[in-house]
Amino acid sequence: MTQTESDKANAALVLFSGGQDSTTCLAWALDRFGRVETIGFDYGQRHRVELDCRAGVRAGLAALKPDWRARLGEDHVIDLAVLGQISNTALTQAVEIEAVAGGLPNTFVPGRNLMFLTFAAAVAYRRGIAALVGGMCETDYSGYPDCRDATMKAMAQALNLGMEKNFTIETPLMWLDKEATWRLAFELGGAALVDLIREDTHTCYRGDRTHRYDWGYGCGACPACNLRSEGYRRYVAATP
Ligand code: ZN
Repeated sequence: MTQTESDKANAALVLFSGGQDSTTCLAWALDRFGRVETIGFDYGQRHRVELDCRAGVRAGLAALKPDWRARLGEDHVIDLAVLGQISNTALTQAVEIEAVAGGLPNTFVPGRNLMFLTFAAAVAYRRGIAALVGGMCETDYSGYPDCRDATMKAMAQALNLGMEKNFTIETPLMWLDKEATWRLAFELGGAALVDLIREDTHTCYRGDRTHRYDWGYGCGACPACNLRSEGYRRYVAATP
């Protein structure tokens, strides 16, 4: 099938890790764009669980709605093992996750989202895609400056100047807390999407897939599990 110009203009590339946030973003994009491709980054994460979830989540989303199946396009996995050379954090080294001085958790990889967006834009350039979609969020975030709205706006400007393009960076979760993110999933795909996220996505920093809670799998104790479980508890409490 050849792509028309309007197909290209109506296409999105979703930064898709296999976690709750990026899965919700992927559903959001499938609801809005005529063609949706995904990109993931393998950068030597201590646990590959999240990356391993991606194919199953994509298949699950395609099975939810015929429109979504028709719109879901290629998946791109980029090897960014080089990030391991410049980071020394709990995501890539066998050290315990804990808050470090300055308030940032030591899962922090400096500027990680800037690198991801640069690679995503280069792929989007080649694929004729104008919209980049990511789950960056200022509300329930852990202090990451590369998740802020101002950073995203500056990044879009830098990409457009540097690649002479007109990319947009869409961040549907920017002003949502985790409770609202669960609710957005329900609005987009009903209880079936909420169940898919609970069962098939992974957020836990420790890569725990052995403990199952009502909000999904995880250790139940790390900062990512705490955010996810607390948001789910409030979502359920507020849902008749
Ligand atoms: Zn956890």
